[in-house]
Amino acid sequence: MADNKLYDLVILGGGPAGATAALYGTRAGLSVLILEKMMVGGEIISTDRLDNFPAFPEGISGAEFGMLLQQQLDNLQVPVQTTEIEKVDFSGETKTIFTTSGEYRGKTVLIATGTEPNLLGAEGEEELVGRGVSYCATCDAAFFKDKEVAVVGGGNAALEETIFLDRFTSKIYLIHRRDKFRGVKGLQDKVLSLPGVEVLYNTTVKAIEGDNKVKGLQLNQDGQGRFLEVGGVFIYAGRTANAPFLAGVDLETTKNGFIITDEKMKTAIPGVYAAGDIRDKYLRQVITATSDGAIAATAAAQALFA
Ligand SMILES: Cc1cc2nc3c(=O)[nH]c(=O)nc-3n(C[C@H](O)[C@H](O)[C@H](O)COP(=O)(O)OP(=O)(O)OC[C@H]3O[C@@H](n4cnc5c(N)ncnc54)[C@H](O)[C@@H]3O)c2cc1C
Repeated sequence: MADNKLYDLVILGGGPAGATAALYGTRAGLSVLILEKMMVGGEIISTDRLDNFPAFPEGISGAEFGMLLQQQLDNLQVPVQTTEIEKVDFSGETKTIFTTSGEYRGKTVLIATGTEPNLLGAEGEEELVGRGVSYCATCDAAFFKDKEVAVVGGGNAALEETIFLDRFTSKIYLIHRRDKFRGVKGLQDKVLSLPGVEVLYNTTVKAIEGDNKVKGLQLNQDGQGRFLEVGGVFIYAGRTANAPFLAGVDLETTKNGFIITDEKMKTAIPGVYAAGDIRDKYLRQVITATSDGAIAATAAAQALFA
């Protein structure tokens, strides 16, 4: 349900960036509202384990991290509205956000809606989404118990998800278009030590075949065509900024829609900030998302109280 209140800071997205901005904004004395279409925690809640976060020596499950974040927001009584952002109007001094549950207004706005997975672009991919084509092993691994599957990609996400899938599947073909991985060394070493994983370097997927469900992949391996029989394929082909609601808004972005900000997370529009994975940045991780959120809320508070 929409409300008539004019918030100091309206935060679009309740992932690590948005939730951290809410903590910092509230503690700085701002009235803050989070608009989130699913659950607080963002994309990390659907992953098995959050690694590389200080003070969690064994990592922590994504779901537990999300719950702790929600608890921290509850402790500060930060309102979270479950709703989907559809459109924004940033033209005036007051910013208006149009959502499936009505309009919300802010003196400042933080865009923190993260990213979405890129399609591989292979023939048959879109038709077979949910029928063996997946972009999230943690969500779908259980459907592939004791089956042979493929993972496509060479970055951290592909490597992490391969390690997770290996607990379920009988065999994983890890398909990578180059001759070495981009992911961190520790993950590479772990993946290469798994007996259930066979790496196919210099290989691309031309087509995903199957009628009602995936039956196999047409590959190009070292310049040679090959059919690989698998029951599923998990795709990690990079990510794109997730903000269709910004269509027509005059923000400075890269060609993939990543928002360009300055060091204080300010965008090209006064009063509009961006934080987390949706920014044009070097490293997309929880720690950099939380750091962006902290900076953005601090900068917004400083601007409002100046
Ligand atoms: C498989 C995988 C494994 C990963 N493992 C790690 C790891 O181990 N360690 C690590 O540090 N990082 C990891 N990451 C990266 C990490 O998840 C991201 O860097 C981090 O979640 C970014 O936070 P964010 O707040 O910018 O965006 P997100 O987490 O994407 O949050 C954005 C939020 O905005 C909401 N939203 C989007 N659109 C709308 C809309 N229109 N209306 C309302 N709400 C909307 C979404 O529901 C979401 O909650 C992993 C990522 C993946 C995909």
